[in-house]
Amino acid sequence: MALTLLSGCGGEPVATPPADTPETTVISQRMTSSVAPPEASPVPTSPAPTSPVPTTTTPAAPPPVVVLDPGHNGANAAHPGDINRSVPAGRGRTKPCNTTGTATNAGYPEHAFAWDVAVRVRDLLTANGVQVVMTRPDDNGVGPCVDRRAAIGNSSGAAAVVSIHADGSTDPSAHGFHVAYSSPPLNEAQGEPALKLATTMRDKLRLAGLPTSTYIGSDGLSPRDDLAGLNLSERPAVLVECGNMRNSTEAAAFSSPEGRQSYAEAIAGGILSYVRAG
Ligand code: ZN
Repeated sequence: MALTLLSGCGGEPVATPPADTPETTVISQRMTSSVAPPEASPVPTSPAPTSPVPTTTTPAAPPPVVVLDPGHNGANAAHPGDINRSVPAGRGRTKPCNTTGTATNAGYPEHAFAWDVAVRVRDLLTANGVQVVMTRPDDNGVGPCVDRRAAIGNSSGAAAVVSIHADGSTDPSAHGFHVAYSSPPLNEAQGEPALKLATTMRDKLRLAGLPTSTYIGSDGLSPRDDLAGLNLSERPAVLVECGNMRNSTEAAAFSSPEGRQSYAEAIAGGILSYVRAG
């Protein structure tokens, strides 16, 4: 059932340029229909020949920067010494540098899922004029530590920072996504902007047909004070837990390219909606 919903949401035209590009088309159609053709040809005028796309249009503002933070990393498990060392986690606490993440019962790892979805989100955002910074370059490395990931978001001046994860609840019936944000906020960005990013993301995921979590948070939102990346962020930041990798329905969606594309489109839609709202 969830798969049906997922495939049904794949058509959201995230990658389609916004409504400004059809402008020339609309104008030419209006002209051909409302202005009497001088030759009075009864043959419907064919659409204007595909005029060159105005790619040379000068942007009014520099493209927004979005930081994507795919959870964990492919070589973390092989380097326990590196990922277990303590780093600052905000609110005066420390945490391990990073963790291995979870996996489906069939062994599909969270780090691979997070990386694949992040790449898909990156491509969708880039196609929509967003400059994307990733917190790790591939899925073969160690870390970076959670405090380093936050620093990447801070130093890039990101309009939004989005961490991508999937959960590993031991209750196989537990399912659904939630969007975590820092609470209580430690700076201005963690206040209203982060909450706006979280609710916008939640709304887009829900619109895409994805169910909200049955076991964490409320209504798809989870205020947290214990997530280092969110605590240390000086930019609007959220962490999307896409669902439970131990739930068979969600594991199937996470393990398929089509399922991951659906999550990526929903997440990219949430980011674009937030960024464009300014
Ligand atoms: Zn994770």
